[in-house]
Order: sequence, then structure tokens, then C-alpha cells
Amino acid sequence: MPRAYVGLGSNVGDREQMLWRAIHMLAFDPEVDVAAVSSIRETDPVGFVDQPPFLNAAVAVETELGPQALLELLLSVERELGRTREGPRFGPRTIDLDLLLYGDEVVDEPGLTVPHPRLHERRFALEPLAELDPDLVVPGAGPVQALLAGLQ
Ligand code: ADP
Ligand code: MG
Repeated sequence: MPRAYVGLGSNVGDREQMLWRAIHMLAFDPEVDVAAVSSIRETDPVGFVDQPPFLNAAVAVETELGPQALLELLLSVERELGRTREGPRFGPRTIDLDLLLYGDEVVDEPGLTVPHPRLHERRFALEPLAELDPDLVVPGAGPVQALLAGLQ
């Protein structure tokens, strides 16, 4: 079964509870097995920096859902957990679920780019991935370990 990696982030409300609720909602889906959960880390915001710190984590999932269907599930979990898309892009959010990797597939469709387009430059996403699988390779960008070593 294809293995995909989902990045999670929250910086509004009870952040840790938000992450766990999202993980449980993924695990509850009959077509998704959550195979592994990384540790949860606190990270400073990047991009739009004037906002509270995030909690970030990543999960490995095994699923028969294709990349588009998996993204739709992630977006529905975001909606159910009360994420709204008001406010600045990259601004505060109750929960953010990103499809970081889907096996070694490359997807470039309207509304879905895999690997996630900013994965290779985001320590907060790469670190939990490396924790889940130190040998992961980001298609088109290189091994996660090398990407992390290249960030200052
Ligand atoms: P970001 O997660 O980069 O901070 P948003 O969560 O606001 O930004 O972006 C959401 C939009 O990005 C979604 O509506 C989705 O269609 C699109 N998108 C494209 N590729 C991906 C991906 N790999 N994972 C999650 N969302 C993606
Ligand atoms: Mg997102």
C-alpha cells in the first residue's frame, strides 16, 4: 500500500489537542491507517512571523486513497476542526494539514502539488519526516537529511 506523509501544524487554541484530534480523525477513516506519529515540536512562525509559535508534527499513513482523495480528506478534517481561511496567508490557524509526500510520486495539478512545494525549505516539516524515516527522499529535491543539513 502506498505510504504518504502528512504534516500537521497549529498555533491557535489548544494546539496539542488540535493535533491529536486531527490524527484521530485520520486514523478513524476506514481507508487510512496511521502507521507512525512523530514527536510534537514547538517552532517559530516563518513567513508571516508576527503570530504565536506553532506546534508541528508529521504522520506516516498507509492508504488506498489516491493523492487527490487524501488531500480532500485532509481539507475536510481542517474544516471540521474549525479552520477558516480568513486572515493572512501563512497566518494563524487552528489546524493545518499538508500532504508532504505520497510515496515517490510527483503530482502537479490545480490545487495539489506533491511533494509539498515548500517542504524542502521548511525545517518544521523536514525534521518530523526525518524522525519518521531517516532515509526518506523528497522526489526532485533530495534526501531529507541532506535538505536539513543545507538549512542554516
Ligand atoms: P500552507 O499549508 O502552504 O500554509 P494553506 O494550507 O492555506 O497553505 O494552503 C491550502 C491550499 O494549498 C489547499 O487548498 C490546497 O488545495 C493547496 N495545496 C496544494 N498542494 C498541497 C499539498 N501538497 N498539501 C496541502 N495543500 C496543498
Ligand atoms: Mg496547508
